[in-house]
Amino acid sequence: MSAEGKVVCVTGASGYIASWLVKLLLDRGYTVHATVRSLDDPKETQHLLALDGAKERLSLFEANLTTEGSFDSAVSGCICVFHTASPVTFASVDDPQMELLDPAVKGTLNVLKSAAKVQSLKRVVLTSSLAAVLFCDKLRCGVVDETWFSDPAICEQRKLWYQLSKTLAEKAAVNFSKDNDLDLVVINPAYVIGPLLQPTLNFTSEAFMRFIETGKEVFADGIYMLVDVRDAATAHILAFEKAEANGRYCIVGDVVRSSEIKMILDKLYPDLGYCPGYKDKCVETKLYCVSKAKAKSLGVEFTPLEVSLKDTVESLKEKKFMNL
Ligand code: NAP
Repeated sequence: MSAEGKVVCVTGASGYIASWLVKLLLDRGYTVHATVRSLDDPKETQHLLALDGAKERLSLFEANLTTEGSFDSAVSGCICVFHTASPVTFASVDDPQMELLDPAVKGTLNVLKSAAKVQSLKRVVLTSSLAAVLFCDKLRCGVVDETWFSDPAICEQRKLWYQLSKTLAEKAAVNFSKDNDLDLVVINPAYVIGPLLQPTLNFTSEAFMRFIETGKEVFADGIYMLVDVRDAATAHILAFEKAEANGRYCIVGDVVRSSEIKMILDKLYPDLGYCPGYKDKCVETKLYCVSKAKAKSLGVEFTPLEVSLKDTVESLKEKKFMNL
């Protein structure tokens, strides 16, 4: 499908995944309406404006998830809205409702309400997460696939506010789309790694960098479900371009123990100096198995883990977040 003259919107465009999405959309010839929280903040805008094709085909819009009608002008004239904006943190927050749940859920409805008014619109692609898949009573039984849906009660009971925000936002989007006849496709990426385009360190890249530097686990059980940022972004584009795409797509490249990640990094970067015992830690923990069938049907090809890990470290070094 030729993308020339086709206008699409990306919300939260300054973010880690969205910056790659904007880049790949521009590379494919799309015209992109990109929303950022502040047009006056060069850290949100400069890396986007520097992308190939940006001068001719990128327009920036200011929009906030919690302001009603904020996305009206950005989505106007678009054939697809990629809604990626959402607060991302696993850290404890003072006010989960205000800091995570409202921007995620009300923000998603806000974007969808704007999208529903657009006559040219063909599809909305929502960035959800594996966080909206895993936390249900099936956890650790059988193969994880798109039929799993995190249970809000389990998330709430365990105070997993980010996971709750993604679960409720996806549910709200599905219901709104049914009621308003919107074509919605949902992408549920695993933990995203890979090179950064933006000049700032987003939450998940920072947590992964601390893990690389200090061995401090991101996930207490030492199991990592990972996907390369370029594959996650490509999945979003395929979810729009493939007319037959529907429902949700788990986008998971690898499920590995932390010891396996350290083994690869140890070979690539012996100076990291992992202690000799790292290979045996967590070996007893059962790995999850995640179905790739739907992702493959979309045409997603996964970057090898070694490549993603190397590109992550090289990017963190190049941006001077990490000295190795
Ligand atoms: P990120 O770099 O923090 O990007 C999040 C974006 O959302 C930022 O541009 C942020 O703007 C914007 N945003 C947050 N609150 C907003 C608000 N109130 N109004 C307008 N914009 C707001 O995070 P990311 O890792 O790329 O995540 C992007 C999406 O992917 C999220 O929906 C996340 O849940 C999902 N996801 C991420 C991962 C992962 O491992 N990173 C995995 C699965 C799914 P500011 O820069 O101004 O804060």
